[in-house]
Amino acid sequence: MRFADFTGQERIKNLLRNAVAQGRVAQTYLFAGPPGVGKRALALALAQALNCLSPQGEDSCGTCPSCRRVEGGNHPDVLLVEPGGGALKIDQMRWLQQEAALRPYAGRRRVFILEGAETLTDQAANSLLKLLEEPPPSAVLILLAVAPERLLPTVRSRCLTVYFYPWPKDRLILELRRQGVPAAEAAALAEIAGGSPGQALALRPLLPQIQGAVEALVQAAHRRDDRALLAAAQELASREEMVLPVLNGLAAHGRRLLQEGGPGAGRWAGVLRATLEVQRFLERGVSPLYALAVFALQVRRALQAEELLPVGVAVEKEER
Ligand SMILES: [Zn+2]
Repeated sequence: MRFADFTGQERIKNLLRNAVAQGRVAQTYLFAGPPGVGKRALALALAQALNCLSPQGEDSCGTCPSCRRVEGGNHPDVLLVEPGGGALKIDQMRWLQQEAALRPYAGRRRVFILEGAETLTDQAANSLLKLLEEPPPSAVLILLAVAPERLLPTVRSRCLTVYFYPWPKDRLILELRRQGVPAAEAAALAEIAGGSPGQALALRPLLPQIQGAVEALVQAAHRRDDRALLAAAQELASREEMVLPVLNGLAAHGRRLLQEGGPGAGRWAGVLRATLEVQRFLERGVSPLYALAVFALQVRRALQAEELLPVGVAVEKEER
């Protein structure tokens, strides 16, 4: 893909385009951010620009044999390394070290894109460190990570970190509309996709089920029905791919209630807090079953709490 063909992440596109134009591309990058916001696409766009045979300014042409090979995933100098069996392992890093030492076969730079860098085993990370300290002159290493805080600090400090932020909701809706998603569906997807167009499209087939699960939690919470709440949380834990989208949907419901400020709205501040907290648990790798059980407990506690009266009301009562 050319930089010009990628929608969104303007700041990062400019950063990378300028680096290409000025011949100042770093040799070790860490692209950090949620899934589906363009980390891999822009890593490939950079690889393509670095190896294009007839560059157009700071972008690739998209049509030369080199660009076509990058797009087809078979350029000999642009290599993706993916976790095998859930982790990036030491054997892969040894292979990487040998490959990175080679001169480019067909292009100008050998670009290695490491998916799921947070899954590096300690052994593999230590082996990778040597390469990050002294990368061979033609090599560019791009680590992609959803949870960069799980990387060894020594690995992080040797990379130029580029943070990919979630898309703002209105931009995300526009992008989904541009891709032909009907308005109501686009709005619903934008609430659950965590600011990621890639996630939004991937979740499209699951939307009715996700909405159903959000509704079950919302109903149980409004009825303050502990048993239904725990059952809904447990059910959700068994559908791992739905956990984050459902929590996003629940948080969106809570925010709406707080904005509207109707009866019982105050308690939803606690629910919202619990929702954000369980997301942090999950990012740290806590099992969904455990995280959601704790979540159900916290929601219960939040809903049992006495609702805080707005200050004005409290004062009026005392005066009477
Ligand atoms: Zn080209």
